[in-house]
Amino acid sequence: MATADVIVLGLGAMGSAAAYHLARRGVRIIGLEQYTPVHDRGSSHGASRIIREAYFEHPDYVPLIQRAYEQWRALQEECDASLLIMTGGLMIGPRDGVLVQGALASARAHHLAHELISAEEIQRRFPPFRMPPEMVAVQEPNAGVLHPEACIRAHLDGATTAGAVLRFEEPVLQWTADEHVVNVVTTQGRYSAARLVITAGPWAPQVLDALNLPLQVERNVMYWFAPRADAAAFAPSRFPIYICEYRTDAFFYGFPAQSDGTVKVAHHHSGEFCSPSTLRRDVAPAEVTRIRGLLEAHLPAASGELRATAACMYTNTPDRHFIIDRHPQHPQITLACGFSGHGFKFSSVVGEVLADLALDGWTRHPIALFRLPRFR
Ligand SMILES: Cc1cc2nc3c(=O)[nH]c(=O)nc-3n(C[C@H](O)[C@H](O)[C@H](O)COP(=O)(O)OP(=O)(O)OC[C@H]3O[C@@H](n4cnc5c(N)ncnc54)[C@H](O)[C@@H]3O)c2cc1C
Repeated sequence: MATADVIVLGLGAMGSAAAYHLARRGVRIIGLEQYTPVHDRGSSHGASRIIREAYFEHPDYVPLIQRAYEQWRALQEECDASLLIMTGGLMIGPRDGVLVQGALASARAHHLAHELISAEEIQRRFPPFRMPPEMVAVQEPNAGVLHPEACIRAHLDGATTAGAVLRFEEPVLQWTADEHVVNVVTTQGRYSAARLVITAGPWAPQVLDALNLPLQVERNVMYWFAPRADAAAFAPSRFPIYICEYRTDAFFYGFPAQSDGTVKVAHHHSGEFCSPSTLRRDVAPAEVTRIRGLLEAHLPAASGELRATAACMYTNTPDRHFIIDRHPQHPQITLACGFSGHGFKFSSVVGEVLADLALDGWTRHPIALFRLPRFR
């Protein structure tokens, strides 16, 4: 049986970051992942993720995103790969909608650089947009694009360099804990450690089944279109990341052009619930028609040929805030799950928080919003 100080179960966005921070603190780490490194079966594939600072979901996320930016930049410098591109961001919607009001609340509470601009001004600054006059946008400079595959690879490589033992294509079948030790059984062996960090993404409902967490896994599709006009206007130097509240509490979002010239767009939430084993990976023509309709209405130049689609999974909590806490029955086990479709940008700081909780039992970072007792 192999032993370690800490076992990390699941090496996706959060687990790779946890393994990185733990290994750099000099503890013996074993990381266990059911698939190959940087796979496309979970929640962290698809070339791009939005990062933004005027966080509409809650002002308490802002200090975390500020720390996440520091960590991404440090990691980027260390690994010498492109992880983050700053493009600025637009949160577009009705003036009294949750998106605009939430972004303004965070910007004001934390004195963040931002402007509130009209529909006409959106189009003047970013010509591909067509927004009805009742729409406004919070424009912020501190937003951009993360490359999730490169980010996860950088965390995995950094963890390995710092001495972590990372084992891939080795699903965890079972874990047990008593007050002294955690035992983990995989398809290939048995492991024990003083501590366990569980970062199982959309598999969390199974891996943590005894906790009966209020998690719902939701299918979400990404679409890549070739612009049908004015392709240069979508370059990352000219076009921002954006989220658009096109109806009350209904959102689509998108990115500037990737290196292959395509622009990625997606709905935020689909209402189609699943599990990792029942996820529907094919995309129906009616779904393409629906997203194309939004582009035709709000960003018509982006609505050219559909080049690719990919299905991915959100793991939602009822309040759409994360779960980051110690296991209620086993304090030597730390959990991070329920990232509700907006967790990736935080993974660099979540890794640090998980290392704090696993090794010290507390963290200086503000995570009160993410504690488990809120569901009891
Ligand atoms: C379409 C889409 C768009 C998104 N857009 C954004 C965005 O723009 N910005 C943003 O910040 N966030 C975004 N998100 C959310 C973000 O990507 C996720 O919150 C984040 O990637 C979740 O990371 P995770 O580590 O929890 O899950 P994952 O990265 O899926 O990692 C979980 C890992 O655990 C492994 N695992 C599970 N069970 C076992 C087991 N029994 N044994 C071994 N290994 C196991 C899995 O194989 C997997 O590798 C988006 C998500 C999707 C789906």
